[in-house]
Amino acid sequence: MLWASNSRADRAPGALAEGCPARRESPEENHEVVSEVEMPENEVQKFYETLKRLQEPRGYYFNADMTMTSEILKGLLKNKARYGYMSCPCRLASGNRESDKDIICPCAYREADVKEYGSCYCNLYVSRDWNEGKIPHSIVPERRPPEKTLIR
Ligand code: SF4
Repeated sequence: MLWASNSRADRAPGALAEGCPARRESPEENHEVVSEVEMPENEVQKFYETLKRLQEPRGYYFNADMTMTSEILKGLLKNKARYGYMSCPCRLASGNRESDKDIICPCAYREADVKEYGSCYCNLYVSRDWNEGKIPHSIVPERRPPEKTLIR
């Protein structure tokens, strides 16, 4: 069994959630992971436009930092190809849809996170105020219960 936690140091090597620039520690690390993701740009663009059309009227905006947004969207598409569902790129998925249903994007924690911090855990979906710099860009703590991060 592997316990996944919100601390990168606690995770097993090679088991880090990919495609999440918001949770990485250095620009060099970002660069390494970006280069591993192979996803056609036009596919990412189409995905972006579809989600934007659906989510903006609900008050969820994409992070205006398009480099970060594009990378997280690539992570979602990569997880869709890998698991068959779009698990959060910033968290470890178990590979079991039922166990991971709370972290299928948009996750069960997005609403509360955007309400409290102006941003989801990954910094993909944000409020208008967050994008406009009217509220601080603080690190969003993991809201997922610890027992849900147990990978069997
Ligand atoms: S909404 Fe949730 S699942 Fe989607 S990117 Fe943000 S934190 Fe991850």
